[in-house]
Amino acid sequence: MSKRMIYLDNNATTPCDPRVVEAMLPYFYENPGNAASRSHPFGWVAEEAVDYAREQVAQLIHVDPKEVIFTSGATEGDNLAIKGVYEMYKRKGNHIITVRTEHKAVLDTCDHLEKMGAEITYLDVQNDGRINLADLEAAIKPTTILVSVMWANNETGVIQPMTEIGEICNRKGVLFFSDATQAVGKIPVDPKATGVHLMAFTAHKMYGPKGVGALYVSRKNPRVKVTAQIDGGGHERGMRSGTLNVPGIVGFGKAAELARLEMAQDAERLSKLRDRLQEGLMALEETVVNGNEAYRMPHVANISFKHVEGEGLMMTFNQTIALSSGSACTSASLEPSYVLVAMGLGDDLAHSSLRLSLGRFSTPEDVEEAITLISNGVNHMRELSPIWEMYKEGVDLSKIEWSEH
Ligand SMILES: *Cc1c(COP(=O)(O)O)cnc(C)c1O
Repeated sequence: MSKRMIYLDNNATTPCDPRVVEAMLPYFYENPGNAASRSHPFGWVAEEAVDYAREQVAQLIHVDPKEVIFTSGATEGDNLAIKGVYEMYKRKGNHIITVRTEHKAVLDTCDHLEKMGAEITYLDVQNDGRINLADLEAAIKPTTILVSVMWANNETGVIQPMTEIGEICNRKGVLFFSDATQAVGKIPVDPKATGVHLMAFTAHKMYGPKGVGALYVSRKNPRVKVTAQIDGGGHERGMRSGTLNVPGIVGFGKAAELARLEMAQDAERLSKLRDRLQEGLMALEETVVNGNEAYRMPHVANISFKHVEGEGLMMTFNQTIALSSGSACTSASLEPSYVLVAMGLGDDLAHSSLRLSLGRFSTPEDVEEAITLISNGVNHMRELSPIWEMYKEGVDLSKIEWSEH
């Protein structure tokens, strides 16, 4: 990997903070114990380290450590929450409400349950990426057992009206689960105060290691239970068996502590950098910001450059900047982002989008260089584009009939 590569893909994963790595190291060789080994000091040391990390994680989100279940990440947390609630409460009803712009770990889990007899409602979003609260309220019926809405979107950074959703769920007596992977550690997240009963998140999106995450499950007002999806030794109060990833959990705990102490200053610094990045790119013609700008994560900007194809644009700086585009290469075709399409963007705008996500290690120099490189790329692509030429000549592109192929 080139040393000069600028990393603007922190929503995909964040670098592990060196202070986190340092905290983890003793738990590979010096302290190799299994946290479930009760008969010798190796086990006790490991158990103590896990208990401490559980407190660090709980403190970040203001919950009781007993309400934190360690998992292998947010994908597992999403699966455990949704499948676990469905299995535990399906006698009460089989209806689950979620949103079209959720992460695949939620959508595919709901698809799976649909095949098993669940009824799933997929709420649309408004053009700004947020759900309409009246739509949610209207969708709740006597058989509804769960509402699943992500805290912040991974592609756009758009933050949902969580408190209002929590209030509706509470009034209707429905459980509220949130995939808060993109929010925890970056903005204040307090599930209890927000009316969230279950919440999944992961270490590697908040400067911790990959392969470890947590599911918060409320134990009081209400006491929520989920059916285990992995059976075995009865770890994690029977909800998630398997030997605990002690070094990973220690790192997750350290990452949570650092986030608690540094979140406010990181967010303030990054929102300024993000605003500068966005302003620099918006100086280009025919450029739009996707998603609600007021309710948005401080480090994210999703921007479409009209009449430019995102994947092609990325090729112009793929040796210098790491980021994601709104196109996903599937086996045969270039699919536009389903998140942007759900927000009402046409295929062309969805295809021309870039997701820029800053992080703790982003610098002002990174931002200035990214503005220059991306602007050069957009200008270059447009110079080569017959569509851009037509646009500049004043042709109304919406009136053109493109031939089907
Ligand atoms: C990254 C991400 C996940 C998946 O998390 P893993 O820990 O990699 O399984 C789930 N949901 C959202 C919103 C994410 O951004």
